[in-house]
Amino acid sequence: MAETSLLEAGASAASTAAALENLQVEASCSVCLEYLKEPVIIECGHNFCKACITRWWEDLERDFPCPVCRKTSRYRSLRPNRQLGSMVEIAKQLQAVKRKIRDESLCPQHHEALSLFCYEDQEAVCLICAISHTHRAHNVAPLDDATQEYKEKLQKCLAPLEQKLQEITRCKSSEEQKPAELKRLVESRRQQILTEFEELHRRLDEEQQTLLSRLEEEEQDILQRLRENAAHLGDRRRDLAHLAAEVEGKCLQSGFEMLKVRPLLLRGPSGRAQPSFAQAVLSARSAHSSALLL
Ligand SMILES: [Zn+2]
Ligand SMILES: [Zn+2]
Ligand SMILES: [Zn+2]
Ligand SMILES: [Zn+2]
Repeated sequence: MAETSLLEAGASAASTAAALENLQVEASCSVCLEYLKEPVIIECGHNFCKACITRWWEDLERDFPCPVCRKTSRYRSLRPNRQLGSMVEIAKQLQAVKRKIRDESLCPQHHEALSLFCYEDQEAVCLICAISHTHRAHNVAPLDDATQEYKEKLQKCLAPLEQKLQEITRCKSSEEQKPAELKRLVESRRQQILTEFEELHRRLDEEQQTLLSRLEEEEQDILQRLRENAAHLGDRRRDLAHLAAEVEGKCLQSGFEMLKVRPLLLRGPSGRAQPSFAQAVLSARSAHSSALLL
C-alpha cells in the first residue's frame, strides 16, 4: 500500500475531529473550561456559565469586567442565551457519538483507529496492524476506499435485483387482474348460453305449434272424409233397397214380364262396389300417417 493513501485515510477523520474540537471550545466557558451551564451573554457579547460570571463579579459594585476581553460594563447585565444552551447540548451529544464511534473503531490489539481494510483477511485493521508481520504482504487500502468499492459492488447487485423486483411486481399485478378477467369471460359465456337456449326454446315452441296445428288440420280432414263416406254409404243403401224392392216386384210378375229385367240385376255381386267405412279410414290414415304417427 502506498504511504500517501495511508495518510489520506487519516486526513478526513482528522478534519472531522478538528471541527468537533472547535465546537467544543465554542461551547465551553472561559472561566471553568467546562461545557457552558445555563449560558448567559454579557454586554461585550461573551458567554459564560451563569454561576461562573456571578462568582467572578461577586465583590464588585460597579464596572464589571469581561473575564475574556476585559471590557467593563456599568451594569450587572446577564441575559440568558438559550440558543447557545441548545448548541451546548448538541456539542455534548456529538462528543458522546464520537467517543462511541472511536471505541468501536479501535484496534483491540493496538488501540489505534481501524482506518484500513485488509482484502485478504476481509477485516478492518489499524496502521500498526498494516505494517505488522501478519498483514505486511497483504493488499491493504483505506477503509473509506474499501467501503466505497464495496458500496459500488453492492449497488451493481442492486440494479438487477430492482429489475427483478419490478418484473415480479408487474407479474403480480397482472395475476391479480386475472380473476376479474375470468369473471368477465364467464359472465359473457353465461349470457351467450342463455341467449342460445332462449333461441332454442323459441324454435321448439314454434315447431310444437306447427305440429299441433298440422295434427288438428289432419283430424278435420279425416273427419270430413268420414262424413263423406257415411253419406255415400247412405246413398248406396237407399239405391240397393230400391233395387231389392224392384226385384221383389219382378218375382210377382208373369213369365214374359219377368224376363224384361234391367241389365244391372244380371251383373250380380261382382259389380263395382262402393268403399266401406273401414277402407275410408285406412286410406285417410295412410295419406296422413306422418302427422298421426308422431
Ligand atoms: Zn463556567
Ligand atoms: Zn468580553
Ligand atoms: Zn492493530
Ligand atoms: Zn491481512
